[in-house]
Amino acid sequence: MNKTLILVVEDDKSVQNLMVTTLRAHDYRYLTAVNAETAVLEASSHNPDIILLDLGLPDADGIEVIRKIRTWSNVPIIIISARSEDKDKVEALDAGADDYLTKPFSVEELMARIRVTERRLAATLCGQMSSAVFINGSLKVDFSAGCAWLDEKELHLTPIEYKLLCLLSKNAGKVLTHTFITQNIWGHSWENDVASLRVFMATLRKKLDKNKDGVQYIQTHVGVGYRMIKL
Ligand code: CA
Repeated sequence: MNKTLILVVEDDKSVQNLMVTTLRAHDYRYLTAVNAETAVLEASSHNPDIILLDLGLPDADGIEVIRKIRTWSNVPIIIISARSEDKDKVEALDAGADDYLTKPFSVEELMARIRVTERRLAATLCGQMSSAVFINGSLKVDFSAGCAWLDEKELHLTPIEYKLLCLLSKNAGKVLTHTFITQNIWGHSWENDVASLRVFMATLRKKLDKNKDGVQYIQTHVGVGYRMIKL
């Protein structure tokens, strides 16, 4: 039995039947929802691996469903819609959808796109597992436990400092721009975010610079951003 759980959001009974029959034939587990409200409810209570989402739903637009789900989940969302204009696709993808299939669709293509999404999910999972703990010199960050150590002593970091440390660690060796960092930390990049970033970065560096080897882990690239050096 395939372990992937797929939520099918479709109000057109015949299309839903076609999708469900195909999924069943390929041994997928599935759930169904016929409107936006149930879709959000099912997504939050069953935590599906992939969502197939129609945009024209009776109680709300599918775009609203994407926005709601994106407030708490990164689950892959594949849009299956009769809307075929570029602007509809762009709007759905910008709202957080991962892929877009236009109706009428071929079931073979739908299955192929689900397989691509599954491969991407598996790759992400592997990446997360292999890098659960980051070690760089005397610095250690345990992403799954949510703590960090320096010279075997736990670092006392504020939530923002910890987020910054994770972001820099995950990208060790690369220069991260102010915009990239502020977007990842606060979800936007306004002028005063860059000013706040300087303050948080200064306090984080102060804590990291206290290591016994005298290593400066975070380098400043003036006018560009910051980089965690890789030892
Ligand atoms: Ca519909």
